[in-house]
Amino acid sequence: MLQSKLFAKVKKESPKDAESVSHRYLVRADFIDQLASGVYSFLPLGWRVHKRIEEIIRQEMVLLGGQEVSLPVLTPKKLWLETGRWETIDPPLFKIKDRHGSELALGPTHEEVITDLVRQRVNSYRDLPLYLFQIQNKFRNEMRATGGLLRVREFAMKDLYSFHATKEDAINFYEKIKKAYLRIFKRCGLKPVCVEADPGTIGGELSHEFMVLSDAGEDKVLICQKCKCAGNIEKFGNVKSCPKCKSSLKQFSSIESAHAFYLGTKYSQVMSANFTDKDGKIKPLIMGCYGIGLGRLMATVVEVNHDKKGIIWPKEIAPFPAHLIPIENSSKVRKAANGLYRDLKKRGIEVLYDDRRDKTAGEKFAEADLIGLPVRLVVSEKTLAKNSVEVKERKSDKVKLVKIKQVVKYVQ
Ligand SMILES: [Zn+2]
Repeated sequence: MLQSKLFAKVKKESPKDAESVSHRYLVRADFIDQLASGVYSFLPLGWRVHKRIEEIIRQEMVLLGGQEVSLPVLTPKKLWLETGRWETIDPPLFKIKDRHGSELALGPTHEEVITDLVRQRVNSYRDLPLYLFQIQNKFRNEMRATGGLLRVREFAMKDLYSFHATKEDAINFYEKIKKAYLRIFKRCGLKPVCVEADPGTIGGELSHEFMVLSDAGEDKVLICQKCKCAGNIEKFGNVKSCPKCKSSLKQFSSIESAHAFYLGTKYSQVMSANFTDKDGKIKPLIMGCYGIGLGRLMATVVEVNHDKKGIIWPKEIAPFPAHLIPIENSSKVRKAANGLYRDLKKRGIEVLYDDRRDKTAGEKFAEADLIGLPVRLVVSEKTLAKNSVEVKERKSDKVKLVKIKQVVKYVQ
């Protein structure tokens, strides 16, 4: 991608209301743009990251046997009345009326819709287990939307719903999902702690949150300094010592980045979503649901991976693998940079090429550090004298000269 053509305008100033690092950097580097409180557009740089996170999540869900579906955003009132959540869900629903006066809600979560879909199609234990997931926009009527992408009113979420014949099977799958989530986070450059949590208005008997420790987080997590047992404040209450080993607990701020719920029969019972078991008995389906907010995950990555100059994207979700920067405008330097850009492109490697002529080397470097691509490739008269390019990883201060033909190794 030629930077001269990139739809992005890097800003020197942070948004006035920015309380978190991710909000400041993602706006300044023009990954996202705020349209209204808690409502954001993703620009090309931001959308590339978002799509890469989406792809990692999709791969892991498919590996578990998940089948992808897409459920509507507009959800009819009658479904919400079946479970009694039309008035009680927290935060409250975004409700609208169509021109005929029928009431609908913008879906904040899809237990009702998926249960309705499944009760029409699943009859027997032979149809189970069943895992359905989607990656789609959700709407949350938050009291206060703050922190950039950390707390928003519209956001893409991956939600998977599982249906089982037995509790044992559901709990087995719950454990598999926890492992898949840890892999997803690792691939995104994060190390979460998995803590037992309060099921809230989604409900069910068992629930876990994946917490990433960060000062930007609104949640508090207590971690045992000895056995590493972790829990949130709601779960542990005001205890000062570990419930397992009685050692002292330390409190950390954290961002809730994913949630798992063992729902049991909470939804299937009230919605009559039943199946016939091996013994011929009609039973309610046993369910689980599992969510990850994509935008929040992206912001969390920035909260954890940054320095004073800007973002430091982990390789697997960076918008581009490298930033190619010629720092002089001589025809020799231009020609070498153009050649390298074309050569990498032929190999299927799309780098961000800062081809702008009106920026100084200092300006280009400052923008590159803010945008945060994993590798910086600098071409200058000096490097070309050695038939080389200067290679620097964003996360390190070390630079090295690499022969032009060898550069490909550093950007794959
Ligand atoms: Zn302990």
